[in-house]
Amino acid sequence: MPIVNTKEVLQYAKENKYALGAFNVASIEAIRGIIAAAEEANSPVIMEFAESHLGFVPLDIIGPVMVREAEKATVPVVVHFDHGKDVDLIAQALELGFSSVMIDGADLPYDENVELTKKVVGLAHSYGATVEAELGTMGNPETSGETNDELIHSEAIYTDPKVAADFVEKTNVDLLAVSFGTAHGLYIAKPKLDYKRLDEIAKSVSVPLVMHGGSGLSEEEYKKSIYYGVTKINYYSDLAHKVAVKAREKLNEAAQKNIDTYSHDISLWTIDIVKEDVMDKMQVFGSTGQAERGM
Ligand SMILES: [Zn+2]
Repeated sequence: MPIVNTKEVLQYAKENKYALGAFNVASIEAIRGIIAAAEEANSPVIMEFAESHLGFVPLDIIGPVMVREAEKATVPVVVHFDHGKDVDLIAQALELGFSSVMIDGADLPYDENVELTKKVVGLAHSYGATVEAELGTMGNPETSGETNDELIHSEAIYTDPKVAADFVEKTNVDLLAVSFGTAHGLYIAKPKLDYKRLDEIAKSVSVPLVMHGGSGLSEEEYKKSIYYGVTKINYYSDLAHKVAVKAREKLNEAAQKNIDTYSHDISLWTIDIVKEDVMDKMQVFGSTGQAERGM
């Protein structure tokens, strides 16, 4: 099946109040687990690779595998470049066949974020690809030095609905990542989501909204966020953590039984663990059974 861009799958989702999971991959096992989950759940899916994961695997190795597996899939797959800060890398992703890219200028002064986003929108649209930008910052405890708790409770980082409307109009961006209380990484303290703000942002812009920091929320928090306008949910930390925890359990179990294990055993477990968690999230986000709507 040809790769789709976010516009093709998210508009229907937005109108029908469900969301697509956007799952990060940093290995071939994750790619296989996600595609297997999407096919079994008959769900469209967004498979993404983050610029910050370049240390785990180079883009020119994982990118072509993502594109090839997406083309082979029996359901619509978006191949997305997540949190791009370097325009040259975004251009490389587009050349490799990615159907969607994110330009993350959220840390820049507003006018510079507008200019940078406009530039990337022009570039990506010439490839028929869609663009996600970010306004307000979800923060990342790994890079900012702040604790997850401090980031969640800092008002200054939340997206202003009026500014969101101005930003979308000026940049012509296709989807917008907004900040209303979630933060990247695993939560130390419980996040407090500002649904009123989310609702106001959704009513002030026409484009689908993206939730980053989608790991570890309750089923109710996901569903309420979708109800108030979230259509793409970035989900990685929890998934990556689950793989490590479950693989450790399996290794311990094998050791107790004196069974030898090999690296390929871990690879095969990883595919299964990813598949199971992704299918579970598709059910919660409401995209299960919606593959035909993404075509
Ligand atoms: Zn993010």
